[in-house]
Amino acid sequence: MSRFTILMYHIVDAPQSKAEAKYACPPALFEQHLEYLSSSIHTVVSLSDIEEHLLTGKALPRDAVAITIDDGFEDNYNQAFPLLRKYNMPATIFLASGVIGGTNDWMKGRGFPERKMLNWNQIREMNEHQISFGAHTVTHPKLSVLNNTLAEQEIIQSKMSIEEHLRQPCKHFAYPYGLFNNTTPEIVQQCGFTLACSTRSGFNNHERDPYILHRIEVYGTDSSWKLKQKMTFGMNDASPLFPFKYYSKQLLNKIGL
Ligand SMILES: [Zn+2]
Repeated sequence: MSRFTILMYHIVDAPQSKAEAKYACPPALFEQHLEYLSSSIHTVVSLSDIEEHLLTGKALPRDAVAITIDDGFEDNYNQAFPLLRKYNMPATIFLASGVIGGTNDWMKGRGFPERKMLNWNQIREMNEHQISFGAHTVTHPKLSVLNNTLAEQEIIQSKMSIEEHLRQPCKHFAYPYGLFNNTTPEIVQQCGFTLACSTRSGFNNHERDPYILHRIEVYGTDSSWKLKQKMTFGMNDASPLFPFKYYSKQLLNKIGL
């Protein structure tokens, strides 16, 4: 059965603070990643292709990979979008609907600079060129600690806002901070989403819970080589020694040690 990978980005711009370094991928590096993907064994697919695969069993290309970008920063339009168009690749951006046209309020006071978020005109334009939009709540709360009523409001209202503005179904969700509790995935399902992305690392296949899909987090410091390592081993943290450790562990398992 097909194995597929989902990549997760956030900011596509030069980092403006130390805290941002992990989350901000400079555009030149982002382009190197796309260049690597276009020349590798991987085929970039949309989350809708993955949804169809999970719901109907329709085959995905071998080594399929989907690109997702969380939060909806304005640089996604200014920097990422022209590059995604250049390489003719689809991607999904998960929007926190309450800050569209505003700034990254939820990140204030943690060493993160203020950044502008996408506005609806930019979102509508991208939506006509292979960029789809998923929901990421209204205010970017920790869903794991909200009661069910509040969690449901955050989840359903972001969906409705996106559907109202784009006049099409919004079927994909991503948990802010990757956080959810025992009931959150069920609420997401009841709200009408067909799949949800977590921040758990690893590959996916048809046996994976569609409401807890795993992703590989691409850091703003990852070279194309590092990205390749991460995609080979399905790990966020693939250090230069990792292949050695991985294969020696496999060998030890094989010989029963
Ligand atoms: Zn987020």
